[in-house]
Amino acid sequence: MKTTRRKFILKAGGGFGALAGTAPLGAAAEGEGPHIAVPARRVPVLAEADIVVCGGGTAGIAAACCAARHGAQVILLERWPSLGGMATNALVNIWHTSDRTKPVIRGFVQEAIERGGRFVRQMAHYPTRPETHEFDSTGMRMVFDRMLQDAGARAFCNLTAVESVVEDGRMRAVLVDTKTGRKAVLGRMFIDATGDGDVAANAGLPFDFGRAADGLVQGMTMMFRLRGLDPARIKAHPEDAQHVFELMKKLRDEGKFPPFLEAAARSYLASPRDPIVSYNMCPVAGNPLDEEELTQLSARAREQVYRYADLWREMMPGFESADVEQMGFALGIRESRRIRGIKTLDAPMVVNAVKQPDAIGHGFWMIDIHDPKGSGHTTWVDQKQEMMPPVGESYHIPLGICLNDRLPNLAVAGRCISATHEALASVRLQSHCMVMGQGVGTCAALALNAGVEMAKLDVRTLQSQLRKDGVYLEDVP
Ligand SMILES: Cc1cc2nc3c(=O)[nH]c(=O)nc-3n(C[C@H](O)[C@H](O)[C@H](O)COP(=O)(O)OP(=O)(O)OC[C@H]3O[C@@H](n4cnc5c(N)ncnc54)[C@H](O)[C@@H]3O)c2cc1C
Repeated sequence: MKTTRRKFILKAGGGFGALAGTAPLGAAAEGEGPHIAVPARRVPVLAEADIVVCGGGTAGIAAACCAARHGAQVILLERWPSLGGMATNALVNIWHTSDRTKPVIRGFVQEAIERGGRFVRQMAHYPTRPETHEFDSTGMRMVFDRMLQDAGARAFCNLTAVESVVEDGRMRAVLVDTKTGRKAVLGRMFIDATGDGDVAANAGLPFDFGRAADGLVQGMTMMFRLRGLDPARIKAHPEDAQHVFELMKKLRDEGKFPPFLEAAARSYLASPRDPIVSYNMCPVAGNPLDEEELTQLSARAREQVYRYADLWREMMPGFESADVEQMGFALGIRESRRIRGIKTLDAPMVVNAVKQPDAIGHGFWMIDIHDPKGSGHTTWVDQKQEMMPPVGESYHIPLGICLNDRLPNLAVAGRCISATHEALASVRLQSHCMVMGQGVGTCAALALNAGVEMAKLDVRTLQSQLRKDGVYLEDVP
């Protein structure tokens, strides 16, 4: 099966091992493995804009909206049928905006909260916990559509950026695969917000993948929702909850039950708030850039979800009518390529709340690593103080982690920025990705207006504009 599939690979990275290095994907693959030659051909131009944003997750949406509001013609390209990335299509529905004493992420995030209306709910304990808002992933799809329309950005879903055309040291176009063939989208500036850094990697930018020790990336999770719970009945049976939880662990340790995130499962079993509950507890691990492996992992995760639901329905009072209401359209992916930038965010910068001269906003989330081997354990559960900035403090997200020193008209935003494996485990949060999207989108538009490259834009001018646009930006050295 593997051999047959590889026969048709034109230009692709090797397996997991090949990606654990830092070679550009295209370069690493040239000359390796079976190939076919494709004749040179003319590629029709689908569209052209000042700024082309690839990837319509939270980072890309923020980048596209903010660039368009500053006068740029903007195109957003998204491979899935709807926008929002992990926030909508993987059902990851919590935003974090507080350093545990006050909100320190505002700007586009605050706007999304306000535009979200009835689809966004402020959480109890606001703002004394980092998690401040939860939202309805389905409703937010529509809200994101409206925000882009209102900003004047043009969105294309259902097409995938598959090649990056570089001419004379600049990005010239991305080639996209559509239902009617391969086409070109031309631009003056490009922002890669694909989460996986596809555009930057295809353009030959170096990247890192996985943790230093073994090249493994953070574990993935299939988010799901159960309906039909009876919260009062469940809460009246704490001993049963404990019994079922212990049984799950025993069966898992005997290899008769799938892995699960223990801390989450225990509280989900004991104290649901509503008859419909979202669950973040179903782990799998592997390489999110290997499509066959990802297919198998997704299938396994769907099985796991039904195994949990079936056991709980059978064993746990209050779950008698429970069933799976919804599952992520896609597996939730936390980490893949990290495109090397002018700067690299690292763990000391995060936990010591380091401030940076080229700050575009604040971040504060802890170093939250989901076991790359798929046990489901996360460092969040341990709540170790040395893994998080102190209460009431936050670190700066610098522009330099989004820019590179090779292609001046290409930036990245979101979870594919330049960070160590550990620092990415903090800055990957959607709220933090939107900070990057707003910073980079605004930077690209102002740079175009000023006729300079993004890295040459006066950073004080950018920061002053970001503050005017509502971004919380304090203590800039
Ligand atoms: C299970 C799970 C739980 C999490 N919990 C939280 C949480 O509670 N709170 C929080 O804030 N964050 C959480 N995160 C992290 C967060 O969801 C992600 O890190 C964040 O969504 C990344 O945003 P992004 O815009 O960079 O990428 P994504 O959301 O991954 O969006 C990338 C978009 O680009 C598109 N795309 C990819 N490749 C291409 C291509 N070649 N061409 C065109 N389009 C392309 C994708 O389809 C997608 O829409 C969680 C993540 C997971 C997986």
